Amino acid sequence: MDYRLPCKNMKDIAYGGGIREILSRADELQRSGRDILHLEIGRPDFDSPGPAKRAAMRALESGDVHYTDMAGTFELRSEVAAKYSRDAGLDVDPGRELLITGGAIEALSTVFLTLLSPGDEVVVPAPYFPPYEDIIMMAGGVPLRVPCTMENGFRPQPGDIEKVVTPRTRAILINSPNNPTGATLKADEISGIADIARKHDLLVVSDECYEKFTYETDSPHIYMASLPGMRERTFTVSAASKTFSMTGWRVGWLMFPAQTRQYIMKSHQSIATCANSFAQAGVAEALRSCQADVDRMIGEYKRRRDLMIEMLSGIEGVTVPVPSGAFYVFPSIKGLGVPSFEFCTRLLEEEGVSTVPGQPFGAPDGYFRATYCRPADEIREALARLASFAARL
Ligand code: PLP
Repeated sequence: MDYRLPCKNMKDIAYGGGIREILSRADELQRSGRDILHLEIGRPDFDSPGPAKRAAMRALESGDVHYTDMAGTFELRSEVAAKYSRDAGLDVDPGRELLITGGAIEALSTVFLTLLSPGDEVVVPAPYFPPYEDIIMMAGGVPLRVPCTMENGFRPQPGDIEKVVTPRTRAILINSPNNPTGATLKADEISGIADIARKHDLLVVSDECYEKFTYETDSPHIYMASLPGMRERTFTVSAASKTFSMTGWRVGWLMFPAQTRQYIMKSHQSIATCANSFAQAGVAEALRSCQADVDRMIGEYKRRRDLMIEMLSGIEGVTVPVPSGAFYVFPSIKGLGVPSFEFCTRLLEEEGVSTVPGQPFGAPDGYFRATYCRPADEIREALARLASFAARL
């Protein structure tokens, strides 16, 4: 049988791109009895808020076990709309401008399947969340990578974005706060990117999954859709996953211009039909009543970030910009003189600390990603081991 795989749109996509190999090796070592410290997966370690769990259980008990409206329950869409009104001053119509999805990843897939024709280009600042390029290519599009440098705090510069735009460019993808660098765009950078979108008549896909994870009180999250003239060209992606520590619930959302709704709905129907019914009830409750849980978790993340930065800064050969958002650090190890893959592999094999090299995120050699969504004592132990490993190099 000739399966003719991979199909044309998949042929340049590498599964996992190196992350999977590290993860499976970490799991293998752990199964063999080794004590492994996991700084590789961006999976919050807190329990989901109690009121959200109880609301989901009530929904399940009361027979809320069927398809919901394809766009999501009106209850949840209304809570998401209220959230954008509170946080961004946006007046969002839950009937025409919101879709509830199976996590942020489904929102991203839905949006690119809807927007791209074969050969359409999407500007993707790098380092980036690895599925971006994959989704764009699966939708037949072409990612245009814009490298961001550590000197600019890994923030995409509007001038660099404009340089790669061509007549085939359809959209700019931004992710602030960023996975894997923790960088957050400054106000003038966001408005510079918005200017380019308006000037070249481009759409913007803004992945704001980490919108609540900002640590500098003088620079709260800026919603791309709230900038003048941007609402009609912005597709905002977000989720309950990180904000409420609900990654396993698989609930996210997409805010879009009302004119695109019928096409967005077609893609979503084919991908997911609707998000999980009782999980939507839990997320509605989280948005309604669990802000104090979010504040508590963000406070703890900030303490862990400060601990991680303090310990990493003391290691010779490691340079680390202070991330202002998300829950990752992206240090340079150029001063240690080993390639990133070797660094991460040996750190795992010799010290039992699991991290990810920078290349799968579209970064050049010389960086790695570590997450601080682990308890402080684990972070302390992991970085002590990392320091003794670095000293041996
Ligand atoms: N976007 C970014 C930037 C992410 O880091 C992640 C998950 O790590 C996602 C989207 C996917 O989120 P979800 O679990 O809600 O699908």
